[in-house]
This record gives sequence, structure tokens and C-alpha cells, in this order.
Amino acid sequence: MRILILMLIIGIFAPSEKSLADKTAELTAPLPAANPSLLKHQAQFSNAQLIQVQDNIYVAYGFDMSNIIFIEGPSGLVVMDTGFRVEKANSAIAAIRKISEKPIKAVIYSHGHADHVGGSAAFKAAAPDAEFIAHSNWRRNINYISSGVRPVFTLRAFAQLGLVLPEGLHGTVGSGGGPVLRANGTLSYVTPTLTVADGQWLEYAGLKFQAMHTPGDLDDGLSLWFPDNSAVLTGDTVTDSHVHAILSTPRHEPGRDAQAFVDSMTRIESLNAEVLIGGHGDVVEGKAAVRELVRNDRRSAQFMIDEVVRLIRQNRSGEYVQSAFAYPDWFIEGEGRGDYYHRISWITRGVYAQFMGWFGGDATSLSPIAPKARASRIVSGFGGVEGAVEKLRAAYRADDFGWVMELASYILSEDPPNAEARQLKSWSLKALAYASESANERNYFLTQAMMLDGHLSLAAIAKASALRGLPDYYQAAEPIGFLHTLGARLNVEAARDTNLRFKIELSDRNRVYLVDIDRGVLMTSEGGDGDVDFTIAITHKNLARLCEGLATWDGLFQGGGLILEGNKDKFDQVARLY
Ligand SMILES: [Zn+2]
Repeated sequence: MRILILMLIIGIFAPSEKSLADKTAELTAPLPAANPSLLKHQAQFSNAQLIQVQDNIYVAYGFDMSNIIFIEGPSGLVVMDTGFRVEKANSAIAAIRKISEKPIKAVIYSHGHADHVGGSAAFKAAAPDAEFIAHSNWRRNINYISSGVRPVFTLRAFAQLGLVLPEGLHGTVGSGGGPVLRANGTLSYVTPTLTVADGQWLEYAGLKFQAMHTPGDLDDGLSLWFPDNSAVLTGDTVTDSHVHAILSTPRHEPGRDAQAFVDSMTRIESLNAEVLIGGHGDVVEGKAAVRELVRNDRRSAQFMIDEVVRLIRQNRSGEYVQSAFAYPDWFIEGEGRGDYYHRISWITRGVYAQFMGWFGGDATSLSPIAPKARASRIVSGFGGVEGAVEKLRAAYRADDFGWVMELASYILSEDPPNAEARQLKSWSLKALAYASESANERNYFLTQAMMLDGHLSLAAIAKASALRGLPDYYQAAEPIGFLHTLGARLNVEAARDTNLRFKIELSDRNRVYLVDIDRGVLMTSEGGDGDVDFTIAITHKNLARLCEGLATWDGLFQGGGLILEGNKDKFDQVARLY
């Protein structure tokens, strides 16, 4: 099917975007298109509506990437998840207000992903006294996404969701788990006011319900069980959105554990619920339908894990798993799942990595040729850059787009400005994107093509994200996590002869940190005493801005955002290292 669609789409060519060398001028860019089955998948999210599930359960569906669920009790409302953006959450609140004027008493996070917590500030504004509830593991993920890897973590999230792509056949058609998402809008994070453990019973708005720890996307996964409704709210651990169980992700989530994910499904199945409402996709009603959905999800996910382990036991590599994994035909028939979100080849390779890491068993990879040297040898094997570009044109002409992308990368390693290699790689990314059944693959490919074409940079994405959600997330994070970013951003060469120590006192929290700079390395520890060259008093927020490079040492000092005590020369010495 994939190949057929590919051929259909690639058979129609648009005029060339621009002329290159004569031989490439006859080649043309692929015509913008989308895989029909992906478009069909996306159509399910197109209608924003407030769905009444039972007398007192409502789902704001299609308002944002994820479902926002309201349960009405005798004295108020309980809310599960807040959507991605404050503006969309406000629309959902306005919709429920036409039905119930009761106060919002509690807001529960199914897990800490932005598409479930990003709208939280809207609920805080609507209900300042509401309890915000998360599983006690919530801070691990917040610390991770506030750490030094943040810019690239963000790039991957933006790319996967298609946030900066144009909308339509030449851009994004959706995220695979919800409607088209744009980068604009306000991302927020209200720090939980209450953390809960597995099995804990809660009572809000006159409703009695149980929190179950059901790790899935993240290790802070919570499901809620409402016995009076026989309803379970499952976050992203089980969803009726026709996608494979996302046991791993190419973005990488340190808190995702494939077997724990499936074990959560087992617990959800055991409830024998009448109604299941996931974080994305449709509401499932009726015990038989709920059981079928959860059982199918659990069975196909367990198969993925077991098959990966079977391949591991044959001493296979992750790369092999990615190319070889397949469900037997008899197995997948009738389960109605597709690659619409993550491709199954990504998930299984990620499961391999959870078990075995990066090493695939071939000792060659313990001492590999460096990427630059490999590229050089391959290009020279094709008769140098000229010869390799000739092969590139032939491969493009033959619709061998995967090979075009790979060979173009080797050529660009040898000859970075090579316009033909750039053009053909970009066109191949687009050709594969236009044919892909996976919304995420489409978005990743088109985002990379945009970067290759020079229309987007990592710095631009990092800045865009920093200006929006960053302050809220950093407010909730532990400083010791993002303080290490100061070390990663240090100008190591300039710091090679620096040897000093300073103290950071958080003026709005009772915390003290000691920082040593020693031969180009910045080392941080919490608390502690001893002689220091200087001390700075700074707010948590300004420290976060300083660490991420959104504020400078000097700028904060001049503007009063940082109070210095001690040796100003040493302070200036540190400032010059950034
Ligand atoms: Zn989600």
C-alpha cells in the first residue's frame, strides 16, 4: 500500500523549484500531497465538540491535541487534563460553563506531557483554589525537560508535531494524535499542589475516585477510576486513536518503560470498566468494547516486546530490529492500528534500546570509523563528489529516496555547500513525507527539509520555545538540574586556566549552591560552606534565565536582577566565560 501511494504521488511532478546544474535541472520537485489513509485518520479530530458521555461526564474533544475531561459532582467539577494551550483550554472551559456553573475543585494531570498540562493556567485562572494533582513522580520529567538538553528536546517535539510547518498538503496535516497544532498560543504549567500514590482514594466535588499509577508515556502516569460511573480515564496509557502503543519514541523519554507500559494496560483491563476515556481519540462505551480495545492494545504491545526480545536473543542489533520487525498477517488483522502516529519500526527499535542500549553486538561498532571518514571513503568509492552526484541523480530519477537522503548526506559531509546534494536530499525528504502514513514521520521529514533549505534553525526553535513555556517549567524544576546547563554552555577553552568558587543564594527559596570552576569544568553542589570568591543572590526565575542564556551575567548585575557580594573582578571573569 505504502509503495503504491508513493508511486501514485511521485508519478505526478511539479515544475522544478529552481534550476541547478544542467543535469539536475531536468529533475523536478515532488508535488505536495498527503497519504489518503493519513488524511482519513486526521479527519476524526477535525470537529471540536463537547461530548456528553454519561449524565455527569463530558469530554472536550478536538479542542486541542488531547481530550479535556469534566466530571460533575454534587458540589463541583473534577477535570482530567488541560490540553496543550491556555487559549484552547479557555474554549473548553467556556463550553462546559454552558452546562454547569459549579466550581472546579480539582485538576488532575494524567501525565506531565505538554499536550496534557500546557493549558493548566486557564484552569488556575478559572479556579484559583482548585487542587492540582499529579503522581509523585511528576518532577523527574520537569527536571529533564529543563536541563541542558532542552533546545534539542524542543526541536524534536516541534518537528514531530509539525508546529512550525505550514498547514496543508505542502506542510503538516496534523499530529497523528489530534488536529493540526500551531506553535503560537500559550504553554503553561501549574505546579501540582498535591501529589498522590498508587491506589489513593480522592474525594472532590462530592465525587469519590481512585488514582491508579499507570506509567505509560511517562513514569508519572495516572489513571482515574470512578466506580459509581464504572468509568476509567486512562491518559495516554490506553487510547482509542488507532495508533500503535507508543512503547518508545525517537524523541527519547528517559521515563518510558515498555513492560511497565503494558503492565499498566493489564491493570486497566482488570477494572472491567463500562466506559474508557483516553487522553486522545474516541470515548469507548460498553464493557465488551472497552475490554476489546484494552486487550488488543495490550496483546499487540506485548507482542512487540516479546518479538524484540526474541531478536535480542538471536544477538541482533537495534538497526536489524528496526528493519525486520513485523506482526504476522494473522495477528494484526482486524486490529485497526496503523503507523499514523509513530511508525512501528521506530517503536521496536526504541524498545530494543530500552533493553540493550546502543550497542548492537557487532564489535566493529566499538571502534567505528568516524562519520566524516566514512563519508569520505564512500564518496571516493563513487569516483569523488562528481561521480557521487551522478549516482544521486540516478537514484532520485529511480524514486530511491531513502538512498538519495543517505548518499546526499555523505556528499554534504565532503562538500557542505553542494547545492545539488542539498536540493535532491530536500526533495527526497518531501517525497517520502508526502507519501507517509505517519503524521510524525511526515512532520519530521518536512521540518528537516525546511532546515536544509535554510528556512529554519535550531536556534530559532530554541528561542521560540524559551519565550513561551520556559518560565513556568523552570519554576517547577529543581535548580540543580538546570544549573548543569551553566557547565555545558561554558566556553571551555577560555576557562582552561580559571580556578575559582562562588556561591549562589536563591533569594526567593531557601536554597544555596556552591559552584567550582576548575580547568574548564563547572561543578555544582547543593548547600555546603567554605571560602568563596563571591556570592550572588538571585531569584529562581532569573537563575533559570541565566542558565539557559536568556539573560547575561552583566545584564542581570546592571539591572539589579542579581546582587553581588565579594570580588567583582572574579565575577567579571566568570561573565566573560559565556
Ligand atoms: Zn498525549
